Amino acid sequence: MARSGGKHLGLPIGLVLRIAVWVIATLWLGTVACWHGVRLVRRLPVLLSGTLRCPRGHAVAAFGAWSCGVCRYTFEGYAFARCPSCHGLASYVICQTCGLGIRDPHV
Ligand SMILES: [Zn+2]
Ligand SMILES: [Zn+2]
Repeated sequence: MARSGGKHLGLPIGLVLRIAVWVIATLWLGTVACWHGVRLVRRLPVLLSGTLRCPRGHAVAAFGAWSCGVCRYTFEGYAFARCPSCHGLASYVICQTCGLGIRDPHV
């Protein structure tokens, strides 16, 4: 009689694997959901005030017409929203007063 170690684990290995995958997937989805929630909460002050601040403190409208730096598509909305055409994200916008760049404050 040959002894097989796999038959003495108590639980079928397939079930253990399925539980492990489920736990990992649930943790991952929960982490992603929390991360999106945190990002949204951190954006709230900008979303509510509607302005960004350049390094010199000038107020720059966070909402308006923006030209995508990648595909040149012009769209209206939040300055750091995804481009509706190519889904690219702006890494910065230019202050209209002093010309300094303003990076997305929440990245
Ligand atoms: Zn684009
Ligand atoms: Zn400025």
